[in-house]
Amino acid sequence: MTHQNEPKQAAEYLRQVIPMLSRQKLPPTPINYAVFYSYLSGNSQSLNAIIDDIFSQKKTFSLAIMVELYEKYVNGTATLEQQDKIQQALEKALSEASDEVQQITSDAQGFDNNISKHADTLSETTDPATTTIVLQQIMQDTRDMVRNNLDMQARMQDTNNEITRVKAELESVKAMAEKDALTGLKNRGSFDRTIDNIVYGDKTGSTSLIILDIDHFKRINDNYGHLVGDRVIRYVAALLLQIVGKENHIARFGGEEFAIILHNESPDSLTALSNKVRIAMGNSKLQRKDSGETIGKVTLSAGITQLKSDDSVETLIERADKALYEAKESGRNKVVFYE
Ligand code: GH3
Ligand code: MG
Ligand code: MG
Repeated sequence: MTHQNEPKQAAEYLRQVIPMLSRQKLPPTPINYAVFYSYLSGNSQSLNAIIDDIFSQKKTFSLAIMVELYEKYVNGTATLEQQDKIQQALEKALSEASDEVQQITSDAQGFDNNISKHADTLSETTDPATTTIVLQQIMQDTRDMVRNNLDMQARMQDTNNEITRVKAELESVKAMAEKDALTGLKNRGSFDRTIDNIVYGDKTGSTSLIILDIDHFKRINDNYGHLVGDRVIRYVAALLLQIVGKENHIARFGGEEFAIILHNESPDSLTALSNKVRIAMGNSKLQRKDSGETIGKVTLSAGITQLKSDDSVETLIERADKALYEAKESGRNKVVFYE
């Protein structure tokens, strides 16, 4: 596929996705949309094999299957590339809209010219028969113009609706590609891209990294099961959003580890913030939803560091990890800052 063909191709996929979803009686949610877009663009042979199999066996696409396909084959892998393609499709729709506007302008000019000609004829004639014919032509031209305008307005409205819909779709697909499914925080891919841009981009102001890890999390899983473990992870995520604030980049870094990127904070304020989270967590009274049984005190540890001019992403994360390791080694439920 040549580069020039890509927007056209993407627009074509875009046109096919919605009818495809409706044939499968699937609502046009971002996940369904992204999976079928990926299918049409042939980004993953495994995805296509599974979908073709479902088609050929006339099975239904359940929500569970769609989510699984999305998680496995679409989310975080080809999504960014797909977003580019959707973006190109949008641009194509916009350029079609602008063609339509040009068409309207040129139709209006044609109408103007005709009317001027008719006006000239009228001013030059005194013959009642010619006058009648010219007036009939004016009426006809006017009716044509009105009809053309209505057709064009309807087409413009369609294009407009399509653009609005695709834009919203694009925004959700983008947001979803950045999100961790369990917690709603930013996902690891999003963290990696963000930190990469900071470390290798224009460094303005200072950047800090906090990595937090739940203490003895394995015990929670072992004692209460994975579902309770998941709820604890979600609880910590909610606590971070509340205390650290949505305006900072808060990501689920791994299983029960979280990473926070902050700007223009001092070592003292970073330590204070981490301690605030740590203390709030230690004071939380977590209960099992089903039995109401209390889950013993859950604590977390944090490692903090700040970006140096000669850091790579690896050295930055290594330093935060070392600080976290020291927090664990010195008894957990601790915050350690590393220069
Ligand atoms: P430490 O205090 O040293 O951090 O001890 P820990 O038990 O928390 O040790 P570690 O961080 O190595 O354990 C992480 C465990 O988290 C291992 C894994 O089974 C579990 N885990 C990872 N991801 C998930 C998840 O998404 N849900 C649940 N329930 N458990 C997870
Ligand atoms: Mg861990
Ligand atoms: Mg842990």
